[in-house]
Amino acid sequence: MSNVIEAPPVPAKEEKTEAGNYFVSNYPPFSFWKPDQVGALEAVLEKPAPVGVPLGVYFHIPFCRKRCHFCYFKVYTDKNAREIRAYIDAGMKEMAALAARPYLKGRKAQFVYFGGGTPSYLSVPQLKELSARMKDLIPWDEAEEVAFEAEPGTLSETKLEGIREVGVTRLSLGVENFDDHILESNGRAHRSGEIEKAFRFARTLGFEHINIDLIAGMMNETEENWKVCVQKAIDLAPDAVTIYQMEVPYNTTIYQRMKEEGKVTAPVADWPTKRRWVSEAFDAFQAAGYTVTSATTVVRDPKTIKFVYRDSLWSGADLLSSGVASFGHLGGVHYQNQAEVGPYMEALDAGKMPVFRAYQTTAEELFIREFVLKLKLGGFAPSYYKEKYGEDVLTRFAPQLKKLTAEGFMEIAGPDWVKLTREGLLQSDRICYEFFLPQHTQYARYT
Ligand code: SF4
Repeated sequence: MSNVIEAPPVPAKEEKTEAGNYFVSNYPPFSFWKPDQVGALEAVLEKPAPVGVPLGVYFHIPFCRKRCHFCYFKVYTDKNAREIRAYIDAGMKEMAALAARPYLKGRKAQFVYFGGGTPSYLSVPQLKELSARMKDLIPWDEAEEVAFEAEPGTLSETKLEGIREVGVTRLSLGVENFDDHILESNGRAHRSGEIEKAFRFARTLGFEHINIDLIAGMMNETEENWKVCVQKAIDLAPDAVTIYQMEVPYNTTIYQRMKEEGKVTAPVADWPTKRRWVSEAFDAFQAAGYTVTSATTVVRDPKTIKFVYRDSLWSGADLLSSGVASFGHLGGVHYQNQAEVGPYMEALDAGKMPVFRAYQTTAEELFIREFVLKLKLGGFAPSYYKEKYGEDVLTRFAPQLKKLTAEGFMEIAGPDWVKLTREGLLQSDRICYEFFLPQHTQYARYT
Protein backbone atom coordinates (compact mmCIF):
# COMPACT_ATOMS: atom_id res chain seq x y z
CA MET A 1 0.00 0.00 0.00
CA SER A 2 2.68 2.45 0.96
CA ASN A 3 5.61 1.50 -1.18
CA VAL A 4 7.00 4.16 -3.44
CA ILE A 5 7.78 2.08 -6.48
CA GLU A 6 7.18 3.64 -9.86
CA ALA A 7 4.99 1.41 -11.96
CA PRO A 8 4.89 1.64 -15.72
CA PRO A 9 2.65 4.33 -17.22
CA VAL A 10 -0.75 3.49 -18.65
CA PRO A 11 -1.01 -0.28 -18.79
CA ALA A 12 -0.65 -1.70 -22.26
CA LYS A 13 -2.76 -4.53 -23.61
CA GLU A 14 -0.50 -6.95 -21.81
CA GLU A 15 -0.95 -10.66 -22.21
CA LYS A 16 1.46 -12.21 -19.73
CA THR A 17 1.02 -11.29 -16.08
CA GLU A 18 3.87 -9.03 -15.03
CA ALA A 19 4.34 -7.24 -11.73
CA GLY A 20 2.09 -4.26 -11.13
CA ASN A 21 -1.25 -3.28 -9.72
CA TYR A 22 -3.78 -2.01 -12.23
CA PHE A 23 -6.95 -2.34 -10.20
CA VAL A 24 -8.46 1.16 -10.21
CA SER A 25 -9.87 1.90 -6.78
CA ASN A 26 -9.75 5.70 -6.67
CA TYR A 27 -8.99 8.79 -8.71
CA PRO A 28 -6.69 10.71 -9.07
CA PRO A 29 -4.17 7.87 -8.56
CA PHE A 30 -2.47 7.54 -5.20
CA SER A 31 0.89 8.60 -6.62
CA PHE A 32 -0.51 12.14 -6.84
CA TRP A 33 -1.44 12.33 -3.16
CA LYS A 34 1.26 14.28 -1.30
CA PRO A 35 2.34 15.06 2.28
CA ASP A 36 2.28 18.79 1.49
CA GLN A 37 -1.49 18.63 0.89
CA VAL A 38 -2.38 17.40 4.37
CA GLY A 39 -3.28 21.01 5.23
CA ALA A 40 -6.26 20.71 2.85
CA LEU A 41 -7.74 18.06 5.13
CA GLU A 42 -7.25 20.30 8.17
CA ALA A 43 -9.14 23.06 6.35
CA VAL A 44 -12.08 20.75 5.57
CA LEU A 45 -12.30 19.59 9.18
CA GLU A 46 -12.81 23.20 10.29
CA LYS A 47 -15.80 23.67 7.97
CA PRO A 48 -19.35 23.22 9.24
CA ALA A 49 -20.91 19.77 8.71
CA PRO A 50 -22.39 19.53 5.21
CA VAL A 51 -26.08 18.86 4.61
CA GLY A 52 -27.10 15.83 2.58
CA VAL A 53 -23.66 14.23 2.21
CA PRO A 54 -23.70 10.62 3.45
CA LEU A 55 -20.96 9.61 5.88
CA GLY A 56 -19.22 6.26 6.12
CA VAL A 57 -16.89 5.06 8.85
CA TYR A 58 -13.96 2.76 8.13
CA PHE A 59 -11.64 1.09 10.60
CA HIS A 60 -8.55 -0.76 9.48
CA ILE A 61 -7.33 -3.85 11.31
CA PRO A 62 -3.86 -4.72 10.00
CA PHE A 63 -3.45 -8.12 11.67
CA CYS A 64 -3.45 -11.51 9.91
CA ARG A 65 -2.60 -15.04 10.94
CA LYS A 66 -0.19 -15.41 8.03
CA ARG A 67 0.98 -13.30 5.13
CA CYS A 68 -0.43 -14.48 1.78
CA HIS A 69 2.16 -14.62 -1.00
CA PHE A 70 0.11 -12.25 -3.19
CA CYS A 71 -0.59 -9.71 -0.44
CA TYR A 72 0.71 -6.18 -0.90
CA PHE A 73 -0.74 -4.67 2.26
CA LYS A 74 1.32 -3.94 5.31
CA VAL A 75 0.11 -6.65 7.68
CA TYR A 76 1.34 -7.84 11.07
CA THR A 77 1.34 -11.53 11.94
CA ASP A 78 3.14 -11.35 15.26
CA LYS A 79 1.18 -8.97 17.50
CA ASN A 80 0.00 -10.06 20.94
CA ALA A 81 -3.18 -9.06 22.81
CA ARG A 82 -1.44 -6.15 24.55
CA GLU A 83 -0.22 -4.71 21.26
CA ILE A 84 -3.62 -5.14 19.64
CA ARG A 85 -5.24 -3.32 22.54
CA ALA A 86 -2.75 -0.46 22.17
CA TYR A 87 -3.55 -0.29 18.47
CA ILE A 88 -7.31 -0.16 19.08
CA ASP A 89 -6.77 2.56 21.71
CA ALA A 90 -4.75 4.56 19.18
CA GLY A 91 -7.40 4.08 16.48
CA MET A 92 -10.15 5.24 18.81
CA LYS A 93 -8.09 8.23 19.87
CA GLU A 94 -7.80 9.13 16.20
CA MET A 95 -11.50 8.62 15.54
CA ALA A 96 -12.44 10.67 18.62
CA ALA A 97 -10.25 13.56 17.47
CA LEU A 98 -11.84 13.50 14.01
CA ALA A 99 -15.41 13.10 15.27
CA ALA A 100 -15.01 16.20 17.44
CA ARG A 101 -14.11 18.46 14.51
CA PRO A 102 -16.83 20.81 13.14
CA TYR A 103 -17.09 18.97 9.78
CA LEU A 104 -17.94 15.65 11.48
CA LYS A 105 -19.48 16.68 14.79
CA GLY A 106 -22.99 15.32 15.32
CA ARG A 107 -23.06 13.29 12.10
CA LYS A 108 -24.23 9.68 11.97
CA ALA A 109 -22.88 6.80 9.90
CA GLN A 110 -24.80 5.73 6.80
CA PHE A 111 -22.42 2.79 6.45
CA VAL A 112 -19.61 1.19 8.43
CA TYR A 113 -16.75 -0.95 7.18
CA PHE A 114 -14.25 -3.10 9.05
CA GLY A 115 -11.39 -3.79 6.65
CA GLY A 116 -7.92 -5.19 6.78
CA GLY A 117 -5.83 -7.17 7.17
CA THR A 118 -8.21 -9.49 8.94
CA PRO A 119 -10.88 -7.89 11.14
CA SER A 120 -11.98 -11.38 12.23
CA TYR A 121 -8.53 -11.85 13.78
CA LEU A 122 -9.83 -9.81 16.74
CA SER A 123 -11.27 -11.71 19.69
CA VAL A 124 -14.94 -11.29 20.54
CA PRO A 125 -14.20 -9.06 23.60
CA GLN A 126 -11.86 -6.90 21.46
CA LEU A 127 -14.50 -6.64 18.77
CA LYS A 128 -17.26 -5.75 21.24
CA GLU A 129 -15.18 -3.09 22.90
CA LEU A 130 -14.06 -1.64 19.56
CA SER A 131 -17.55 -1.40 18.11
CA ALA A 132 -19.01 0.06 21.31
CA ARG A 133 -16.37 2.79 21.26
CA MET A 134 -16.98 3.48 17.56
CA LYS A 135 -20.73 3.75 18.10
CA ASP A 136 -20.20 6.23 20.93
CA LEU A 137 -18.17 8.45 18.61
CA ILE A 138 -20.24 8.15 15.42
CA PRO A 139 -23.64 6.51 16.02
CA TRP A 140 -24.63 3.61 13.77
CA ASP A 141 -28.34 3.53 14.54
CA GLU A 142 -29.16 4.82 11.05
CA ALA A 143 -26.53 2.74 9.23
CA GLU A 144 -27.81 0.90 6.16
CA GLU A 145 -24.85 -1.46 6.14
CA VAL A 146 -22.17 -2.65 8.53
CA ALA A 147 -19.65 -4.64 6.50
CA PHE A 148 -16.97 -6.92 7.92
CA GLU A 149 -14.14 -8.79 6.17
CA ALA A 150 -13.40 -12.23 7.56
CA GLU A 151 -10.90 -15.01 7.04
CA PRO A 152 -12.72 -18.37 7.23
CA GLY A 153 -10.12 -20.02 9.48
CA THR A 154 -10.69 -17.44 12.22
CA LEU A 155 -14.46 -17.98 12.36
CA SER A 156 -15.45 -20.17 15.29
CA GLU A 157 -19.16 -20.22 16.10
CA THR A 158 -18.54 -17.91 19.05
CA LYS A 159 -16.65 -15.49 16.82
CA LEU A 160 -19.44 -15.43 14.26
CA GLU A 161 -22.04 -14.86 16.97
CA GLY A 162 -19.96 -11.97 18.30
CA ILE A 163 -19.66 -10.44 14.84
CA ARG A 164 -23.42 -10.64 14.36
CA GLU A 165 -24.10 -9.24 17.85
CA VAL A 166 -22.15 -6.05 17.24
CA GLY A 167 -24.48 -5.31 14.33
CA VAL A 168 -22.68 -6.56 11.22
CA THR A 169 -25.10 -6.91 8.28
CA ARG A 170 -22.68 -7.80 5.49
CA LEU A 171 -20.14 -10.54 6.08
CA SER A 172 -17.47 -10.90 3.41
CA LEU A 173 -15.54 -14.15 3.46
CA GLY A 174 -12.06 -14.20 1.95
CA VAL A 175 -12.41 -17.67 0.42
CA GLU A 176 -10.27 -17.06 -2.71
CA ASN A 177 -10.24 -20.77 -3.69
CA PHE A 178 -11.66 -24.07 -2.42
CA ASP A 179 -8.60 -26.22 -3.13
CA ASP A 180 -6.23 -26.89 -0.23
CA HIS A 181 -3.13 -27.19 -2.39
CA ILE A 182 -3.84 -23.84 -4.05
CA LEU A 183 -4.66 -22.19 -0.73
CA GLU A 184 -1.49 -23.53 0.84
CA SER A 185 0.83 -22.78 -2.05
CA ASN A 186 -0.44 -19.18 -2.17
CA GLY A 187 0.19 -18.73 1.53
CA ARG A 188 -3.44 -18.57 2.70
CA ALA A 189 -3.97 -19.45 6.35
CA HIS A 190 -7.33 -21.21 5.96
CA ARG A 191 -8.29 -24.55 4.41
CA SER A 192 -11.36 -25.65 2.49
CA GLY A 193 -13.05 -27.45 5.39
CA GLU A 194 -13.17 -24.22 7.36
CA ILE A 195 -14.99 -22.38 4.57
CA GLU A 196 -18.09 -24.51 4.49
CA LYS A 197 -18.28 -24.79 8.26
CA ALA A 198 -18.06 -21.03 8.74
CA PHE A 199 -20.44 -20.28 5.89
CA ARG A 200 -23.15 -22.71 7.05
CA PHE A 201 -23.06 -21.43 10.62
CA ALA A 202 -23.04 -17.79 9.49
CA ARG A 203 -26.21 -18.53 7.50
CA THR A 204 -28.03 -19.49 10.68
CA LEU A 205 -27.27 -16.12 12.27
CA GLY A 206 -29.31 -13.96 9.92
CA PHE A 207 -26.67 -11.79 8.24
CA GLU A 208 -28.49 -9.84 5.53
CA HIS A 209 -25.71 -10.29 3.02
CA ILE A 210 -22.96 -12.91 2.88
CA ASN A 211 -20.38 -12.39 0.17
CA ILE A 212 -17.53 -14.66 -0.77
CA ASP A 213 -14.37 -13.49 -2.53
CA LEU A 214 -12.67 -15.61 -5.17
CA ILE A 215 -9.49 -14.98 -7.14
CA ALA A 216 -9.15 -16.23 -10.72
CA GLY A 217 -5.62 -17.28 -11.57
CA MET A 218 -3.88 -17.90 -8.25
CA MET A 219 -0.61 -19.79 -8.45
CA ASN A 220 -1.21 -23.44 -9.49
CA GLU A 221 -4.77 -22.77 -10.69
CA THR A 222 -5.95 -25.13 -13.44
CA GLU A 223 -8.87 -25.23 -15.87
CA GLU A 224 -10.38 -28.15 -14.04
CA ASN A 225 -9.95 -26.77 -10.56
CA TRP A 226 -11.40 -23.37 -11.47
CA LYS A 227 -14.60 -25.06 -12.69
CA VAL A 228 -14.82 -27.02 -9.44
CA CYS A 229 -14.15 -23.86 -7.47
CA VAL A 230 -16.98 -21.97 -9.18
CA GLN A 231 -19.36 -24.89 -8.71
CA LYS A 232 -18.53 -25.10 -5.00
CA ALA A 233 -19.27 -21.39 -4.67
CA ILE A 234 -22.62 -21.86 -6.43
CA ASP A 235 -23.44 -24.81 -4.15
CA LEU A 236 -22.97 -22.63 -1.07
CA ALA A 237 -25.52 -20.13 -2.51
CA PRO A 238 -24.00 -16.93 -1.12
CA ASP A 239 -25.85 -13.65 -1.65
CA ALA A 240 -22.97 -12.24 -3.67
CA VAL A 241 -19.63 -13.36 -5.02
CA THR A 242 -16.73 -11.03 -5.79
CA ILE A 243 -14.24 -12.39 -8.30
CA TYR A 244 -10.86 -10.71 -8.74
CA GLN A 245 -8.32 -11.36 -11.46
CA MET A 246 -5.01 -12.25 -9.81
CA GLU A 247 -2.51 -9.41 -9.80
CA VAL A 248 1.09 -9.52 -8.60
CA PRO A 249 1.87 -6.11 -7.09
CA TYR A 250 5.47 -5.16 -6.41
CA ASN A 251 5.23 -5.42 -2.70
CA THR A 252 4.46 -9.17 -2.60
CA THR A 253 6.42 -12.29 -1.76
CA ILE A 254 5.74 -13.54 -5.29
CA TYR A 255 7.40 -10.46 -6.78
CA GLN A 256 10.37 -10.82 -4.40
CA ARG A 257 10.88 -14.34 -5.72
CA MET A 258 10.53 -13.20 -9.32
CA LYS A 259 13.20 -10.56 -8.70
CA GLU A 260 15.58 -13.06 -7.10
CA GLU A 261 15.14 -15.43 -10.01
CA GLY A 262 15.42 -12.64 -12.59
CA LYS A 263 11.92 -13.32 -13.94
CA VAL A 264 9.62 -10.75 -15.54
CA THR A 265 6.57 -12.95 -15.94
CA ALA A 266 4.70 -13.89 -12.78
CA PRO A 267 4.01 -17.59 -12.11
CA VAL A 268 0.27 -17.18 -12.65
CA ALA A 269 -2.07 -17.49 -15.64
CA ASP A 270 -1.87 -14.83 -18.37
CA TRP A 271 -4.49 -12.10 -18.63
CA PRO A 272 -6.59 -13.64 -21.43
CA THR A 273 -6.87 -16.86 -19.42
CA LYS A 274 -7.86 -15.02 -16.24
CA ARG A 275 -10.46 -13.01 -18.15
CA ARG A 276 -11.85 -16.17 -19.70
CA TRP A 277 -12.05 -17.82 -16.28
CA VAL A 278 -13.97 -14.86 -14.86
CA SER A 279 -16.24 -14.86 -17.91
CA GLU A 280 -16.92 -18.58 -17.54
CA ALA A 281 -17.63 -18.04 -13.86
CA PHE A 282 -20.09 -15.26 -14.75
CA ASP A 283 -21.82 -17.62 -17.19
CA ALA A 284 -22.06 -20.36 -14.57
CA PHE A 285 -23.45 -17.99 -11.94
CA GLN A 286 -25.95 -16.57 -14.43
CA ALA A 287 -27.10 -20.08 -15.25
CA ALA A 288 -27.63 -20.57 -11.50
CA GLY A 289 -29.84 -17.45 -11.33
CA TYR A 290 -27.29 -14.79 -10.37
CA THR A 291 -26.94 -11.39 -12.07
CA VAL A 292 -23.60 -9.85 -13.08
CA THR A 293 -23.67 -6.43 -11.42
CA SER A 294 -20.12 -5.19 -12.00
CA ALA A 295 -16.71 -6.17 -13.35
CA THR A 296 -16.15 -8.21 -10.20
CA THR A 297 -19.54 -9.09 -8.73
CA VAL A 298 -22.44 -11.45 -9.20
CA VAL A 299 -25.51 -11.13 -7.00
CA ARG A 300 -28.32 -13.55 -6.26
CA ASP A 301 -31.03 -10.92 -5.85
CA PRO A 302 -30.01 -7.42 -6.99
CA LYS A 303 -33.24 -5.95 -5.59
CA THR A 304 -32.32 -6.74 -2.01
CA ILE A 305 -28.55 -7.22 -2.00
CA LYS A 306 -26.77 -3.88 -2.04
CA PHE A 307 -23.17 -2.76 -1.88
CA VAL A 308 -23.77 0.38 0.17
CA TYR A 309 -20.10 1.03 0.97
CA ARG A 310 -18.94 0.80 -2.64
CA ASP A 311 -21.86 2.61 -4.22
CA SER A 312 -21.93 5.45 -1.66
CA LEU A 313 -18.19 6.03 -1.93
CA TRP A 314 -18.26 6.02 -5.71
CA SER A 315 -21.11 8.54 -5.64
CA GLY A 316 -19.08 10.96 -3.52
CA ALA A 317 -19.92 10.11 0.12
CA ASP A 318 -17.58 11.21 2.88
CA LEU A 319 -15.49 8.49 4.50
CA LEU A 320 -14.05 8.97 7.97
CA SER A 321 -11.25 6.48 7.88
CA SER A 322 -9.14 5.46 10.86
CA GLY A 323 -6.32 3.05 11.43
CA VAL A 324 -2.92 2.48 9.94
CA ALA A 325 -2.61 2.97 6.15
CA SER A 326 -6.34 3.61 5.79
CA PHE A 327 -7.77 5.72 2.97
CA GLY A 328 -10.43 8.37 3.60
CA HIS A 329 -12.27 11.11 1.78
CA LEU A 330 -13.75 14.19 3.43
CA GLY A 331 -15.23 17.24 1.72
CA GLY A 332 -13.41 16.64 -1.58
CA VAL A 333 -10.05 15.81 0.03
CA HIS A 334 -8.56 12.34 -0.25
CA TYR A 335 -6.24 11.26 2.54
CA GLN A 336 -4.19 8.29 3.64
CA ASN A 337 -2.78 7.56 7.07
CA GLN A 338 0.77 6.55 7.94
CA ALA A 339 1.34 3.08 6.51
CA GLU A 340 3.37 1.59 9.38
CA VAL A 341 2.11 1.06 12.91
CA GLY A 342 5.16 2.74 14.50
CA PRO A 343 4.83 6.21 12.90
CA TYR A 344 1.02 5.94 13.08
CA MET A 345 1.02 5.45 16.86
CA GLU A 346 3.84 7.92 17.45
CA ALA A 347 1.88 10.66 15.68
CA LEU A 348 -1.16 10.00 17.87
CA ASP A 349 0.97 9.85 21.03
CA ALA A 350 2.35 13.26 20.12
CA GLY A 351 -1.21 14.62 19.72
CA LYS A 352 -0.94 14.88 15.93
CA MET A 353 -3.13 13.50 13.15
CA PRO A 354 -1.47 10.39 11.68
CA VAL A 355 -2.12 11.46 8.08
CA PHE A 356 0.71 10.72 5.68
CA ARG A 357 -0.55 12.24 2.42
CA ALA A 358 -3.60 13.96 0.98
CA TYR A 359 -5.04 15.35 -2.22
CA GLN A 360 -7.38 18.29 -2.76
CA THR A 361 -9.58 17.29 -5.69
CA THR A 362 -11.10 19.72 -8.18
CA ALA A 363 -14.74 19.57 -9.30
CA GLU A 364 -13.56 18.13 -12.64
CA GLU A 365 -11.56 15.39 -10.92
CA LEU A 366 -14.57 14.43 -8.81
CA PHE A 367 -16.60 14.08 -11.99
CA ILE A 368 -13.93 11.88 -13.65
CA ARG A 369 -13.61 9.87 -10.46
CA GLU A 370 -17.29 9.01 -10.37
CA PHE A 371 -17.38 8.34 -14.10
CA VAL A 372 -14.45 5.90 -14.17
CA LEU A 373 -15.31 4.09 -10.95
CA LYS A 374 -18.94 3.62 -11.96
CA LEU A 375 -17.90 2.44 -15.40
CA LYS A 376 -16.90 -0.72 -13.55
CA LEU A 377 -20.60 -1.26 -12.78
CA GLY A 378 -21.06 -1.99 -16.48
CA GLY A 379 -21.88 1.26 -18.25
CA PHE A 380 -23.24 4.79 -17.84
CA ALA A 381 -26.34 6.91 -18.33
CA PRO A 382 -25.34 10.23 -19.99
CA SER A 383 -28.28 12.03 -18.36
CA TYR A 384 -26.88 11.24 -14.89
CA TYR A 385 -23.64 13.15 -15.53
CA LYS A 386 -25.48 16.00 -17.26
CA GLU A 387 -27.69 16.47 -14.25
CA LYS A 388 -25.10 15.99 -11.53
CA TYR A 389 -22.05 17.67 -13.10
CA GLY A 390 -23.39 19.55 -16.16
CA GLU A 391 -21.13 17.37 -18.31
CA ASP A 392 -22.16 16.06 -21.71
CA VAL A 393 -20.15 12.85 -21.57
CA LEU A 394 -21.04 11.75 -25.11
CA THR A 395 -19.40 14.90 -26.50
CA ARG A 396 -16.60 15.24 -24.02
CA PHE A 397 -15.49 11.62 -24.38
CA ALA A 398 -16.45 11.20 -28.06
CA PRO A 399 -12.96 10.05 -29.20
CA GLN A 400 -12.62 7.49 -26.40
CA LEU A 401 -16.15 6.19 -26.90
CA LYS A 402 -15.62 5.85 -30.64
CA LYS A 403 -12.38 3.94 -30.12
CA LEU A 404 -13.77 1.66 -27.41
CA THR A 405 -16.87 0.94 -29.47
CA ALA A 406 -14.75 0.09 -32.52
CA GLU A 407 -12.65 -2.23 -30.36
CA GLY A 408 -15.78 -4.04 -29.21
CA PHE A 409 -15.59 -2.92 -25.58
CA MET A 410 -18.69 -0.68 -25.55
CA GLU A 411 -22.06 -0.40 -27.22
CA ILE A 412 -25.11 1.84 -27.14
CA ALA A 413 -27.71 -0.20 -25.35
CA GLY A 414 -30.65 2.22 -25.15
CA PRO A 415 -31.66 5.87 -25.41
CA ASP A 416 -29.79 6.72 -22.19
CA TRP A 417 -27.48 3.78 -21.58
CA VAL A 418 -24.03 3.01 -22.93
CA LYS A 419 -22.84 -0.36 -21.72
CA LEU A 420 -19.59 -2.22 -21.56
CA THR A 421 -19.65 -5.49 -23.47
CA ARG A 422 -18.55 -8.58 -21.55
CA GLU A 423 -15.01 -8.13 -22.90
CA GLY A 424 -15.12 -4.46 -21.93
CA LEU A 425 -16.33 -5.33 -18.45
CA LEU A 426 -13.51 -7.82 -18.00
CA GLN A 427 -10.97 -5.14 -18.98
CA SER A 428 -12.70 -2.23 -17.29
CA ASP A 429 -9.73 -1.34 -15.08
CA ARG A 430 -7.62 -0.80 -18.18
CA ILE A 431 -10.44 1.03 -19.95
CA CYS A 432 -10.78 3.46 -17.02
CA TYR A 433 -7.39 4.97 -17.89
CA GLU A 434 -8.77 6.15 -21.23
CA PHE A 435 -10.88 8.71 -19.36
CA PHE A 436 -8.22 10.04 -16.99
CA LEU A 437 -7.13 13.64 -17.34
CA PRO A 438 -3.89 13.75 -19.37
CA GLN A 439 -1.79 14.73 -16.35
CA HIS A 440 -2.87 11.52 -14.58
CA THR A 441 -2.19 8.95 -17.27
CA GLN A 442 1.56 9.03 -16.76
CA TYR A 443 2.96 7.16 -13.80
CA ALA A 444 -0.48 6.28 -12.53
CA ARG A 445 0.36 3.97 -9.68
CA TYR A 446 -2.11 1.86 -7.77
CA THR A 447 -0.07 0.69 -4.83
S1 SF4 B 1 -5.54 -12.26 4.59
FE1 SF4 B 1 -5.68 -10.49 3.16
S2 SF4 B 1 -4.62 -8.81 4.21
FE2 SF4 B 1 -4.03 -10.74 5.28
S3 SF4 B 1 -2.12 -11.37 4.32
FE3 SF4 B 1 -3.77 -12.40 3.19
S4 SF4 B 1 -4.30 -11.01 1.49
FE4 SF4 B 1 -3.08 -9.86 2.97
